[in-house]
Amino acid sequence: MQSLHDMTGNMPSSEFPGINPSSGSSLSCPICGQALYATDKGNCEVTYHCSSAEARFWDFDRGTVAQHKAKEHWDRSIREVFLSRG
Ligand SMILES: [Zn+2]
Repeated sequence: MQSLHDMTGNMPSSEFPGINPSSGSSLSCPICGQALYATDKGNCEVTYHCSSAEARFWDFDRGTVAQHKAKEHWDRSIREVFLSRG
């Protein structure tokens, strides 16, 4: 049995330097290019995820390869934008 949980350690990082959060709502998914949408908001940061149906892992049957790929897509699309008070 192969472990499907190797991806749990990945962290948000600056590996996609092409995105400029200060330019407004132009965030897009690094995997499929769809727009990102805010999934979590804190006091000083907003978390975004891919809005594509391919990233909606909860729409897939649990335990399937398709669901695993969707979850990976979701996890990898994460973008955290830190709000600056001007
Ligand atoms: Zn995507």
